[in-house]
Formats: sequence, structure tokens, C-alpha cells
Amino acid sequence: MQEIEEILKAKGIRPTAVRLLVYKFMAQESLAMSLNDIEAAFDKTERTTLFRSLKLFEEKGLVHKIEDGSGMAKYALQTLEEGNVSDKLHLHFHCSKCGETQCLTDQTIPNISLPNGFKATDANLVVKGLCDKCSK
Ligand SMILES: [Zn+2]
Ligand SMILES: [Zn+2]
Repeated sequence: MQEIEEILKAKGIRPTAVRLLVYKFMAQESLAMSLNDIEAAFDKTERTTLFRSLKLFEEKGLVHKIEDGSGMAKYALQTLEEGNVSDKLHLHFHCSKCGETQCLTDQTIPNISLPNGFKATDANLVVKGLCDKCSK
């Protein structure tokens, strides 16, 4: 827990008990999680508290949001160090059978060239299909 506390502090986030637990939970799972998934694991914590923790994590660059087309935004921990938006762009994979979404952080998008005057702040790169478990 000490280590997580340091990670949160380094991002300017006050390490409250709920925030520490949410971070720990997300770090254990390699999958992207929706608010519902997190809520299901924290039945004693209010949804709004969890949502605010997630929002704060997102604002501070600790997690990134993924729109995988399931209708609910999912969040995954940011694994790469801060940089410009193209540095941290990677593919995501959404399995249409089990509904799981994961970060393919090895599959980075090197550079996206936009027309003059355009500035990217976010991108959602989601590949859909069957994951390794479901394609068997
Ligand atoms: Zn699957
Ligand atoms: Zn990701």
C-alpha cells in the first residue's frame, strides 16, 4: 500500500483509503474496467465516490478512458510515463464474445499526423473481434 500511496502522491492525488483500494484493484486486473465493474467489487462504497476517484485519476493522467462501443466507458491504468498524446497511444482490443477490453500496450501508434492547426488530446483506438480465450 505504501508504494501505491507514493504513486498517487506523485500525481498530486491525496491518497484516501478509497483511492488506494481502487488503484490496487485496477492494478491487479490487466483488463480495462467500467464503473460498474469497480462498483461490483466495492459493494460498501458509494458509486459517486468511486466515480469521483476515477475522474480524478483520469484528470491526473493515472488512468485513461476507453470507449469500446459497449456503451460504458472503461478505464485502464496508464502504464507509460507522461508524454505527449501520441507517446501514449496504443491499441485496445474489445472481445465481442466475453466483452472484455484490454490495452495492447506493445502496439503503440508511433505518430499521427494531423492537418496544420489540429491538436489531438485523446484518441480511442479499439480493435474488435475475439480474444485468445474466445477464439479457441
Ligand atoms: Zn473474449
Ligand atoms: Zn489502454
